[in-house]
Amino acid sequence: MTYDTAIIGAGINGCATAYFLTQGGEKVALIDREGIAAGGSGAAGAFVSPKFSKGGPLKTLMEESYLFSLDFYERRFPELIRIAPLIHFAKYGDENEKVRAFKETTDLPMLSAMPEAPMTEETKAFEHVLLARSGLVNAQGVCARLAEASDFILDDINIIKYDDGVWSVGTIRAKRVVLATGAYRPVVAMPHIALRAVWGHRVDIKTSTPLPCHLHQYVSIAATGANGEGAIGATHDVHYDPQTATEPYDVEAGRAELLAKAAKTVRLEHVEVLKDYTGLRSGSNDYYPLVGKVADAEASLLAAPGLAKGAKTDAASLVYHPGLYMINGTGGYGFVMGPLLARTLAESLLEGKAVPEALDPTRFLHRWAKRVGK
Ligand SMILES: Cc1cc2nc3c(=O)[nH]c(=O)nc-3n(C[C@H](O)[C@H](O)[C@H](O)COP(=O)(O)OP(=O)(O)OC[C@H]3O[C@@H](n4cnc5c(N)ncnc54)[C@H](O)[C@@H]3O)c2cc1C
Repeated sequence: MTYDTAIIGAGINGCATAYFLTQGGEKVALIDREGIAAGGSGAAGAFVSPKFSKGGPLKTLMEESYLFSLDFYERRFPELIRIAPLIHFAKYGDENEKVRAFKETTDLPMLSAMPEAPMTEETKAFEHVLLARSGLVNAQGVCARLAEASDFILDDINIIKYDDGVWSVGTIRAKRVVLATGAYRPVVAMPHIALRAVWGHRVDIKTSTPLPCHLHQYVSIAATGANGEGAIGATHDVHYDPQTATEPYDVEAGRAELLAKAAKTVRLEHVEVLKDYTGLRSGSNDYYPLVGKVADAEASLLAAPGLAKGAKTDAASLVYHPGLYMINGTGGYGFVMGPLLARTLAESLLEGKAVPEALDPTRFLHRWAKRVGK
């Protein structure tokens, strides 16, 4: 059998893409070397909140993604999301202005009064946003449900080959391939695309202090459930990468860092760490995700040598790998952006709708071509 689509990588981006393509009637193979939500997605909290920045197109994309994903998870998997208000605090004096600007430019619903929570005096002195609704999703549960209608294949893909209109991907064949490999070594050379891997640690906890809302400041602290269970996440470590590290990751130190950061925001009593999670996020240089067709950088440069001198070329003069697509670069917001991005990709594949230019992975091609042309 030849699949319509093979997706490599079963994190939130691969699983959400699989969901929308199977909803559209496609036969999908979802391939991962470790399992569903084994990479960065398995480590995520996963908090669903907007980006608390000043205005701009990225803030707009994040707000749209946040509203879409909150509705998406709530409608489809209400048992896998904990909805609660969110208080977002500035971290230092300089951020107060940014938080004020966010409040002035957002249309998102706000609470009129601060929920009762034992915040520290230092934190209360900072500017804050009282968002009426935000979510904490069960990352592994959501990914597994999104993947249900696909065939899951456990395989480590080192190379893919295109021949006669069909891709060979490990043991299966597919008309097209979507790369959703997160911060891991890419299966196809993409020298023009640099993704930054950022290691992170988060924990599930139990506490005797009831917390009625999610809190964001130095880290995110989840509203507690019926038995006092919550979550704290996450650290950002740009230096540690398990793919190249010579020393094992220090779990104790990461846990201590998380608890210390949470304690600067809120006084939680009798905190017990139930489970540690660690993983890599992958972010792009301009903080926008990458969604769409994958260009063959070397072949594009041969076809349009003017690229090396900075000539502006349109998409038609670039060379693309046939039937090869990607979805990546969601940084610390994969569970916020993944569903909307996956729907965007699925609509482009199934209905021919254009992917917004800001997400197009070839946006990095011109800069790369100028660099190699020097
Ligand atoms: C600690 C931590 C906390 C986070 N908290 C949040 C949060 O609160 N909210 C939020 O929205 N986001 C959060 N994120 C970010 C979010 O998890 C990422 O944006 C998201 O996981 C990216 O998903 P992905 O599908 O692109 O990559 P991944 O989830 O990393 O999936 C990639 C998959 O590809 C597989 N793979 C790679 N190469 C191959 C190959 N050659 N063959 C087969 N399989 C392959 C890997 O095994 C992996 O399973 C957090 C991330 C971390 C690390």
